[in-house]
Amino acid sequence: MGTIRDIWRVNLKDCIFCNLDQSRIEKENTYALSFKDLYPVTKGHTLFIPKRHVQSFFDLNINEKEAIFELLELEREKLIEQDNLITGFNIGINDGSDAGQTVMHCHVHLIPRRNGDMSDPRGGVRGVIPEKQSY
Ligand code: AMP
Ligand code: ZN
Repeated sequence: MGTIRDIWRVNLKDCIFCNLDQSRIEKENTYALSFKDLYPVTKGHTLFIPKRHVQSFFDLNINEKEAIFELLELEREKLIEQDNLITGFNIGINDGSDAGQTVMHCHVHLIPRRNGDMSDPRGGVRGVIPEKQSY
């Protein structure tokens, strides 16, 4: 018991996601798990990770990709059932530190969006370069 390292022993000693306390896990399947982001961009912001420590989305095998996508869909359904103000989502991966990745264990962000949560949402993930968000 304890962290996901105990259930998937190949993971990294200093990785915060490998050492996530099991009590934080929201959903899991064979190869992936989900948990709430500690510093949510919006209410319900959820992260999805492979149980195996890899840095990049492109290091995932097909089983891990399928496992992450399964949890992503389940979480979306749960969120829209719980909160009828949710009208959209941003789904994102920061792959590499130059792309903004700060935790080097591959993760997918699911960020619920609500009408009016910012004045002009046009462009969404294009906002990674703020002056290019709107086109
Ligand atoms: P990224 O910048 O794409 O690597 O995203 C890292 C995400 O991890 C950020 O959204 C953080 O808010 C989140 N985060 C950092 N530490 C923790 C933690 N201990 N538990 C859950 N989420 C975390
Ligand atoms: Zn890790």
